[in-house]
Amino acid sequence: MSGSKACPEDWKARIPLIFEGAEESSAADWSLSLPAELDYSGLNYSLKSPLRVHAEKLGNGRTFFLEIRLSFSAAAPCSRCLRETPLEIAGSFRYFYTPSAVEEGQNVDETVVSYPQDSVEIDLSEQIWESFILSLPDKVLCREDCAGLCPLCGADLNAGDCGCSSQGSDPRLQVLKDILPDVSEEC
Ligand SMILES: [Zn+2]
Ligand SMILES: [Zn+2]
Repeated sequence: MSGSKACPEDWKARIPLIFEGAEESSAADWSLSLPAELDYSGLNYSLKSPLRVHAEKLGNGRTFFLEIRLSFSAAAPCSRCLRETPLEIAGSFRYFYTPSAVEEGQNVDETVVSYPQDSVEIDLSEQIWESFILSLPDKVLCREDCAGLCPLCGADLNAGDCGCSSQGSDPRLQVLKDILPDVSEEC
């Protein structure tokens, strides 16, 4: 899949910069489209909902914190048994914005965003996409005590004992036994 490392081009997530007037802060809510699937951190995520975003500019100064809260529904294979596992993901992220004469993109820190001094609004698309990626879990379990798959026959051990483990055979030991047939008898 192409483009999985960048935010969708059709995202419109702009927030006005207000430096005068009574308003203390500004906020906005968006529902942004997500790709149907995304490969990240070795997992294949299916995305089941739009990305729901609440963005809030905290304070009315030229430097400010911007809070991004997001939530979405997804599914990914369990890291142990591969069963498709539904996920309800929510996250909260903060960025620090500061006006700068330097060109956009020359940010000194991942969470510090500089914007041109003459801006009247800022585009949050990249920060929202980054927050979305950071909110993806790198490990998914269908349940806390998932028994996983049998390393010998591949059976789903959540469905019951496949019989392999009752013989007490470890595949690594089995290899040794095949090479050295007498080892187990001598011990
Ligand atoms: Zn599982
Ligand atoms: Zn088995």
